[in-house]
Amino acid sequence: MDHVPLRHETFRPGGALKKTTAALLVVAAVLAAAGVEIWTARRRAGFIGRENGPLARLIDASRIGEQTALIASKAHRAGTEANAEVAGFVGERLQRAGLKVWNTPFEAEVYESLAVRLSLEERGEKKAYDLSEPGDGEPAFLAYSPDADLAAPVVYANEGSRGDYELLRKKGIEVRGKLALVRAQGICRSMKTEIAGSRGVAGLLVYPEPRDQGDAAPAFPDGPNTPRWAIPRGTLLRFYRYPGDPSTAREKGIDNLPPVPALGVSQAVAEDLLSRMRGDAVPEPWEGWLKVPYVLAAEGPRVRVVVKGQLVRKNLRNVFAILPGRNGNARPVMLGNHYDAWERGAVDASSGTAVVLEVADALAKLRADGWRPERSILFAFWDGEEAGIFGSARWVEQALRDRFPGLAAYVNVDSAVRANDFVGDVMPGLRASLGRVLAVVRDPATGKTLAETHGAFQLPSFSSDASPFIGLTGTPVAEVGFGRHYPVYHTRADTVEWIRRFGDPGFARAALLARIVALYVGWLATDPILPYRFSEVSDDARKSLRQLESRVASFGEWAPFTRSLRDALDSYEAMARRWDGEERRLANLSSKKVREAAPLVEQAMAAFAAGGRGRPVSYGRGSVLIGPSEEDRCDAEAHASLVDAVRSRDSVAMRAEGDERARAFIQAQQLLRAAEWIAIGPGGPDRRTRN
Ligand SMILES: [Zn+2]
Repeated sequence: MDHVPLRHETFRPGGALKKTTAALLVVAAVLAAAGVEIWTARRRAGFIGRENGPLARLIDASRIGEQTALIASKAHRAGTEANAEVAGFVGERLQRAGLKVWNTPFEAEVYESLAVRLSLEERGEKKAYDLSEPGDGEPAFLAYSPDADLAAPVVYANEGSRGDYELLRKKGIEVRGKLALVRAQGICRSMKTEIAGSRGVAGLLVYPEPRDQGDAAPAFPDGPNTPRWAIPRGTLLRFYRYPGDPSTAREKGIDNLPPVPALGVSQAVAEDLLSRMRGDAVPEPWEGWLKVPYVLAAEGPRVRVVVKGQLVRKNLRNVFAILPGRNGNARPVMLGNHYDAWERGAVDASSGTAVVLEVADALAKLRADGWRPERSILFAFWDGEEAGIFGSARWVEQALRDRFPGLAAYVNVDSAVRANDFVGDVMPGLRASLGRVLAVVRDPATGKTLAETHGAFQLPSFSSDASPFIGLTGTPVAEVGFGRHYPVYHTRADTVEWIRRFGDPGFARAALLARIVALYVGWLATDPILPYRFSEVSDDARKSLRQLESRVASFGEWAPFTRSLRDALDSYEAMARRWDGEERRLANLSSKKVREAAPLVEQAMAAFAAGGRGRPVSYGRGSVLIGPSEEDRCDAEAHASLVDAVRSRDSVAMRAEGDERARAFIQAQQLLRAAEWIAIGPGGPDRRTRN
């Protein structure tokens, strides 16, 4: 849109905000000199208590519904005119909220499908399978598939994991040169192609297994489940190797294209293929709910697959808005969401886009009512996430090139409501604060607080816009939403009608999510001393070490290599618990002490970034606390590079990984100690000082 100023994709917190910062510092100094205690306990601890009520009134479920409907009114894949219109709408809405808005265009190689065909080529019978879906939209395809025109027999391979192919091998079933019919769920799509390639599989047919939906409800539109005609879409790019388009990956010497062709097929097609297979019954976990026997087929039906596409350079764009904080030197908090989608993508991620817009609007209104956050809040609407996490990766890389000092936190909202249960995938350090927000919001169905009902926090994955932040930097990250799976994911049935009737009637949970996110982001931005819970980091590290102990029988052999880490962890943990226990006292500090201690607290958490600032790290190794897991590289594992070193019994790597963590824990401990010295005084654990 033309009235949103276009800017080069950089963000320098010092620049535009410097003047106001200087002015605010003068004011702060005057107030401090006058002995005014700005940060009284009530004010500081109070963002949640103070703003929960107002936010509940400001956030409007029906408006979230209307905006979701507007964004999801057309298919809006990255690189299409329809998606550019969504960007325009997002920008206008942010401007109407009174925020400063800009967008940053970038070029990317987008995949355009030219042909997808599947036909049965049995001796006695030939027929073309129907790969169309009713209604308007684009034909289904799996993006970035290599071109193919091949005929081969199909075997059923469950979810297409290493273990699945291993089982087939043990049963004497050769998969080399064949097509594998695999469930859409389980390990991620890109991982399925990587493993298939390593096994010599000729290509994949991916279908949505009804059993993976958890219950046997009727199919949409009669019920919430996947229609028999629905075909799953998605990217095949191996974004866990590098998030970004193939050309940018190539420039870095990385091949993130899939090794084998793949196409999505409906349950109707999968059922027909399965019905033509003969063999022994599958093990129970491989069983599905299609009305045919699932068998280990030595030689399945022969089909012909045609896949053809092209890579086209397109202009994509990220849209940003800023709600300025009072301190331009404090690390900002960023809240992000992707606005591109497969088909209409009402759930994924139009509902999330509408939620983040509602949060931006509500926080802007609080600001108009006098709320002044300490740190700026950046709102990011990413393009090209579905194609391969393009937009967020671009921003993170540019921020690294610009020596951007970092974010206090990155909060990601993808699909707002997939199912009923609250899900938080949160880095250690940011969990207690989210937990406190969940303690003040109630589930509309049960009346219980979400703190009572939600499951344990898990780590963010490497398959959404959160991943460049953990893959390339040490940014503390939280991903929030309701539910992990939903039956119409990435199909033409992901519509507002599905949400209204089944997914989130009345958009009640979407509105609840908006309030949670507004409270969380608002609180993180308000408190000059970030409410990080430092002991979560050491608890997580101890848990990883314990798991390694139980997994690796010869633990004693490698334990010496991680001695430095254990020692560092002991002293860090003592410091972290002391700091975490001082919350009350920290809430009563003078503004002078707050200003001196706050940056040290930011830096203490940033100590867990791998490598030095500006020193490039290989993708997935940005944080020492998290990395892609060996089993499914779209998933995360705590201390992955240490785990990898132990798993491969590489003593040099074990020592290096142990030492790197030891350095991070020591650095964090020293920074916290300095913050404690400033805030509380130089005494030991029992010290008492006046402010
Ligand atoms: Zn999404």
